[in-house]
Amino acid sequence: MEINKLIRENIRSLTPYSSAREEHFSEDGIFMDANENAFGSVLDASLNRYPDPSQRQLKNEIAKDRRISPNQIFLGSGSDEAIDLLIRAFCEPTRDRIMVCSPTYGMYSVCAAVNNVEVVEAPLTPSFQPNLENILNQGTGDLKLLFLCSPNNPTGNCLDGQKIKEILENFPGIVVLDEAYIDFAVTNSWLSDLSKYKNLVILQTFSKAWGLANIRLGMAFAHPEIIEILSKIKFPYNVNGVTLQTALEALPKKANMQKIVRQILTERERLKHNLLNFSFVEKIYPSDANFLLVKFNGSRKVYYFLTQNRILVRDRSNLTHCRNCLRITVGTPEQNQKLLDTLTHFSEAP
Ligand SMILES: *Cc1c(COP(=O)(O)O)cnc(C)c1O
Repeated sequence: MEINKLIRENIRSLTPYSSAREEHFSEDGIFMDANENAFGSVLDASLNRYPDPSQRQLKNEIAKDRRISPNQIFLGSGSDEAIDLLIRAFCEPTRDRIMVCSPTYGMYSVCAAVNNVEVVEAPLTPSFQPNLENILNQGTGDLKLLFLCSPNNPTGNCLDGQKIKEILENFPGIVVLDEAYIDFAVTNSWLSDLSKYKNLVILQTFSKAWGLANIRLGMAFAHPEIIEILSKIKFPYNVNGVTLQTALEALPKKANMQKIVRQILTERERLKHNLLNFSFVEKIYPSDANFLLVKFNGSRKVYYFLTQNRILVRDRSNLTHCRNCLRITVGTPEQNQKLLDTLTHFSEAP
């Protein structure tokens, strides 16, 4: 597959913004090139200098941890930034299209809409697996990106590995595999297969298992040619220095993250077990993530009752195959107990 042929013409020929510090030296010097405040900032912290636009230090640390090369890593303001940039890099507005497999994460379609790019639907099967015939038989040249999400949001399940493999080998465009919830899953990340597939982009994030949603840091892993394109079109300082520093402090605490993940998984199973005792809970879908998709007998009433009791869950009942479904994020033991108690009150309400 030739990545270059899939890229929009104007992006291919773009000369990116370049800072003087990128072109010459970025450490040890007198910096009078970027109109920063040389006297410092109103705060004690040294926030007066622009952050490293190439995020070298953090990329090196992530590369070591994942056993990949830094030039296979893009860092953005959440993985949402990578989603937007991928669409902007590959899809000519009003002409090219993306494919999504609903029910899935809403940002793919929102970013496409912002960029005036049409979305083709290839719905998941009722057991929430990719429909290969549907996905692979639409292969006209204007279908540039396919978004797959595994574990999928809002269904919680992992997509079948064999199906992903077939898609990677046969889809004529770029396959974006969103692994936002991979740290909660039993199955392995596709990262170890990254160099096998030139058309594979893997998205991961610090927002979920790492518990750092606030710092807005997402990662895209791909062939260096794709990473180069994304880096070319991003805002120069798209990840701020406070975020870079925080992530550098977080990375050595991976064991801590994994311990919290185990607690979340324990709570998820307890929550699932207890929810199944309610007569108005019809079904709970298998989850490899930190949430449960729960099918109720009358989700509207449940949703309303919960919000009245200041418990907010996600109403997914309008999505494909998700009628009467609410998506519930696993909380702390206390929060989960509160949810269960509230549902008990609901069942006793007249
Ligand atoms: C939460 C989530 C993300 C993460 O987005 P960030 O911008 O990194 O916070 C990405 N994809 C899916 C499917 C998600 O559920």
